[in-house]
Amino acid sequence: MAEQTFSIIKPDATRRNLTGKVNAVIEGAGLRIVAQRRIQMTRAQAEKFYEIHKERPFFGELVDFMISAPVVVQVLEGDNAVARYREAMGATNPAQAAEGTIRKLYAESVGENSVHGSDSADNAALEIVQFFKPEEIVG
Ligand code: GDP
Repeated sequence: MAEQTFSIIKPDATRRNLTGKVNAVIEGAGLRIVAQRRIQMTRAQAEKFYEIHKERPFFGELVDFMISAPVVVQVLEGDNAVARYREAMGATNPAQAAEGTIRKLYAESVGENSVHGSDSADNAALEIVQFFKPEEIVG
């Protein structure tokens, strides 16, 4: 079933000019980039986005990282987009990520791991509205 998921190309990847290479993996996985914008996240935006992790010891480090350089926010569309993108991303820790995944290819560490992808369709919808207006998404 066609669905949408929310993606962020994180600062470690934009800093190394890997946006195109990450997008090539995304498209190669059968996902269509139906909205995309490069932004400098504010601290408030990053804190809200990762609110679920606010009690974790790495929360401060994560927020500092996410605002350390521009990110590319995206909406991806395709059959089972949420699961398909999680598979293309690979495990959170690149040391555990499968061959050919974005994190295996490009991530630097468990924190600086190149991409975010929603973990459920419900969260995808909540995340998409934080960054895109409906008319900016062109399927
Ligand atoms: P994801 O869904 O695979 O992105 O993983 P999680 O939801 O568990 O964590 C969210 C994000 O927090 C990860 O993608 C990392 O950027 C960051 N993160 C997770 N674990 C750690 C950690 O142990 N240290 C640091 N610095 N960041 C972490």
